[in-house]
Amino acid sequence: MANNIASDLQKDEYKVIIIGALGVGKTSLLLRYVHNTFEDRISKFISEEKKSVVVNGREIVLHLWDTAGQERFQSITNRFYSDSHAVVIVYDMTSEDAPQDLDFWVREIQYYLPLELEAGMPVLFVANKKDLIKKEDIEERRQHFRQAQEVSHSNGFLPPVQCSAKTGENVDKVFQVVAEHLVRNRSGSHPLIRQTDQKRCTACSS
Ligand code: GDP
Ligand code: MG
Repeated sequence: MANNIASDLQKDEYKVIIIGALGVGKTSLLLRYVHNTFEDRISKFISEEKKSVVVNGREIVLHLWDTAGQERFQSITNRFYSDSHAVVIVYDMTSEDAPQDLDFWVREIQYYLPLELEAGMPVLFVANKKDLIKKEDIEERRQHFRQAQEVSHSNGFLPPVQCSAKTGENVDKVFQVVAEHLVRNRSGSHPLIRQTDQKRCTACSS
């Protein structure tokens, strides 16, 4: 039957965490991606949204974890990081603090997810608020972006993406790139899966 196509797809579920400083647009990115909406004065705190994506004929489900404002108190918990399969680090292209922000979040994931990073977990920098960049600021922003590219390259992260949660430019691309890498990692004998399984088994037997 024609409508059985979806049930023939293999479903996999992945936890993708979205981190970054307060106000950079994490929640906006998530709302644009999942609900195709945007608010100029967002006051929402959300913690998790789900979205299905098809990659190479395989349907996967991304569990997208937002910080729910925990970064305001610098209190992102171990639970938030644990068992994640991919990390999206958002920064604000218009912010002077962008370079320090990148370093801070890289150190956070190195602390919380060392095994996963070693195993090649996908990490992606997202430069958000592209719609606000004025012509005269382009060169400075380019330097920040080059820095993001260098940090990504030296740490084995994915190439960074510039986007706008407001206009929607490149927002789908962010999560499609992550989804493709998750599928690629899983279809090979990627050590991340084995390590995560091992960690879970150890926890079960203790
Ligand atoms: P979060 O603290 O990282 O979750 O940031 P929010 O998603 O709450 O966004 C903070 C502010 O930036 C809100 O006023 C948003 O409307 C605004 N914002 C988020 N993304 C964009 C964007 O791409 N362009 C513009 N112009 N504003 C944005
Ligand atoms: Mg938020």
